[in-house]
Amino acid sequence: MTDKLPVIKVEHLQKNFGNNKVLKDINAEVNEGQVICLIGPSGAGKSTFLRCLNLLDQPSSGKVIFENKELTALSEDQLDQLREKMGMVFQQFNLFPHMSIIENIKLAPMKVKGMSSKDAEAKGLELLRQVGLEDKADTFPASLSGGQQQRVAIARALAMDPEVMLFDEPTSALDPEMVGEVLKVMQDLAQKGMTMVVVTHEMGFAKNVADEVWFMADGYIQEKAAPQQFFTQPQTQRAQDFLARVL
Ligand code: ADP
Ligand code: MG
Repeated sequence: MTDKLPVIKVEHLQKNFGNNKVLKDINAEVNEGQVICLIGPSGAGKSTFLRCLNLLDQPSSGKVIFENKELTALSEDQLDQLREKMGMVFQQFNLFPHMSIIENIKLAPMKVKGMSSKDAEAKGLELLRQVGLEDKADTFPASLSGGQQQRVAIARALAMDPEVMLFDEPTSALDPEMVGEVLKVMQDLAQKGMTMVVVTHEMGFAKNVADEVWFMADGYIQEKAAPQQFFTQPQTQRAQDFLARVL
């Protein structure tokens, strides 16, 4: 085993919305190549936590350290550069409807990284191949199924060569028969060594793919454990109740 480095480190992170204390004291580390599955009840603060990792939400206090740089101490310009290294995939795929699939994927590498159209095209096609959609390059989002659109959204995020991929319930908006194809793409990515933080209700994915499961409730990460440990011997009553409901 090689030594794993922390890519993301969170120290005493708190996030309030007015009087609503959503994240109360989060301390966590994500190591290089690790897959974290973040689970917990609705309203627990999972999305808020993900958004705090790349400062889409400004933490109320505490530190977010990414690749040894304290994001919470950077200017907006410096922040933008680091944000590019964190790919994000949401429940809603948010593809641009008036642009073809390949154009959707080429946009950010060309605009943000100054990549040539030709290079972005080659890269985009390679990524579409990776998610099994090379033949859809010139079609438009509306002609694709939800599962296909989400695979494009993953390819689009990968086109920026992120160091980390953050997923916020990427399969929750999909019809059941399309969930598997998206999870498969995510599993392939995990196997290639991508560092991933995945908010999900897919307990099968968490069991099979996560290196660690984090269980969040009431503003805290209540448990961090290897999946076989978490799913067979959850330590807190909160997690036991949650699992009794979802399993
Ligand atoms: P989860 O993703 O675990 O379901 P969220 O992070 O979406 O939870 O929400 C946690 C809490 O934070 C909820 O009470 C929600 O109403 C509140 N919240 C989230 N975003 C905002 C916001 N932009 N403004 C005010 N309250 C918010
Ligand atoms: Mg959420």
